[in-house]
Amino acid sequence: MSDCLFCKFVAREIVPDVVAESEHSLAFRDINPQAPTHVLVVPKRHVENAGELAKASAEELADLVLLARAAARQDGLVDGYRLVFNTGAQAGQTVFHAHLHVLGGRTMEWPPG
Ligand code: C5P
Repeated sequence: MSDCLFCKFVAREIVPDVVAESEHSLAFRDINPQAPTHVLVVPKRHVENAGELAKASAEELADLVLLARAAARQDGLVDGYRLVFNTGAQAGQTVFHAHLHVLGGRTMEWPPG
């Protein structure tokens, strides 16, 4: 989509701080990190959220989660990490191209705010 920020990252029209890439997904550091590691993993395909990605391609959804796992390993998150899909405005989604947050490097609290 021409006006989608994360599509521009995927096309490198805007270059994010890339940490890993796979056939179907791109992982880059969040510009406003909420933890020592805060990586976003996006599908190269433009879909609005994780559910839409699952409907379009289970293989691409699995690729996304595996790249998140690789990014966490790369940052040495051996004690754990949190994966988050904010889905919809009420859940805090602000960019409507599916993305998986990978958060780690500190103790997480539950429930989230
Ligand atoms: O889940 P949500 O839609 O709120 O997440 C969007 C994320 O995209 C935010 O964490 C924000 O910091 C990040 N972002 C970014 N680079 C931008 C704009 C937003 O990493 N240029």
